[in-house]
Amino acid sequence: MLASAAMSAGQTTTAATGAAARDGYFGEFGGRFVAETLVLALEELTRAMHDIVLQPDFQREWRELLASYVGRPTPLTEAKRLARAIDPSGAFLARLFLKREDLCHTGAHKINNAIGQTLLAKKLGKTRIIAETGAGQHGVATATACALFDLPCVVYMGEEDVARQAPNVGRMRLLGAEVVPVASGSRTLKDAMNEALRDWVTNVRTTHYCIGSAAGPHPYPELVASLQRVIGDEARVQILERTGRLPDAAIACVGGGSNAIGLFRGFLADESVALYGVEAAGHGVSSGKHAATLTAGRIGVLHGARSYVLCNDDGQIEEAHSISAGLDYPGVGPEHSHLKDTGRATYISATDDEALAAVSQVARLEGILTALETAHPFAKLGVIAAELAGKRGRPVDLLMCSSGRGDKDLETLLRRLPLGSGR
Ligand SMILES: *Cc1c(COP(=O)(O)O)cnc(C)c1O
Repeated sequence: MLASAAMSAGQTTTAATGAAARDGYFGEFGGRFVAETLVLALEELTRAMHDIVLQPDFQREWRELLASYVGRPTPLTEAKRLARAIDPSGAFLARLFLKREDLCHTGAHKINNAIGQTLLAKKLGKTRIIAETGAGQHGVATATACALFDLPCVVYMGEEDVARQAPNVGRMRLLGAEVVPVASGSRTLKDAMNEALRDWVTNVRTTHYCIGSAAGPHPYPELVASLQRVIGDEARVQILERTGRLPDAAIACVGGGSNAIGLFRGFLADESVALYGVEAAGHGVSSGKHAATLTAGRIGVLHGARSYVLCNDDGQIEEAHSISAGLDYPGVGPEHSHLKDTGRATYISATDDEALAAVSQVARLEGILTALETAHPFAKLGVIAAELAGKRGRPVDLLMCSSGRGDKDLETLLRRLPLGSGR
């Protein structure tokens, strides 16, 4: 698959230009590189984002659901034992706070977006929802929202992931969704996304495509960010209440980039808050088996947007690798590419082994069984704190998005981690 044609679904590819489309750019990144047939639907969605989603009525209804159904606001937890383990003398890490998205209904931040987009689809009169999923977390969140709103749900999932993530396939089916295994390409997330886009091209009048991350063509990166920013908005209020000041850094893992951009949006305007995204380095960035798109990728077009991608010299999209299925994606949302190039955010990476070690450490020290995705930023907290404290000449407060819980990863964890028989 050529990067530049990745989303054409066999039709002419149009890079939308002109005033309206410029709205869909973050610097030179983003845009709307899609089949002609989707342009009207994306324009409808862009208008709906401004005229419905960002309006007080919608916000009230959505936030009421987040409170009564998802369990928001999620708590802010101070992780004292972990902070001491990382920095026993307190020389560089003053305090560590976790924004607990792992306590959301269905176990991760993805439900914030799924409920928002499904509520919007209902208001637009759509009668069918489709979604792509990798690990199955976004599929489960979308299937959940569709059950709540009484809408039929079709989830595209690579065959490889269907096999690897059997419990989530079962969950989606129990929730009434149809799971369609995708046999093309590497039979993983990027192929599922291609297939969902193909379905959308055919059924665009009746169907809403609920994209699960802050990626894809305009307006998805902006739409998803404006829903997930609930994470950063809440966290900002909570940490100010708790400590009386802003954190020195906000930190999150980056797959497509939705939990990270959700957290960052709460602090983008606060220049004193450093922003750190942590990608998956898999077997190591130099091994070629990784998903560190911002660390080691190049600029290209994937799934309708210009951003950093993992591709070879011919522009062919390469396979990503990560132990965590939610970070195993060869692209990244365009706003992160812009934040990287402008230097507003810093992107680093953690390997599979570092993430596994962090899962054990966080479980034993904090009683939190974290998702493998979330283990990546946990693994880098010491490095980040030391670097930042060095720059600022004092111990720093860190705020990290605890994006999800690890129940879904239990099989991998039991296979890969040596389990002690007690203390
Ligand atoms: C899906 C997922 C991610 C990665 O997705 P983003 O869009 O980058 O946030 C991270 N953490 C968890 C727990 C996930 O389920």
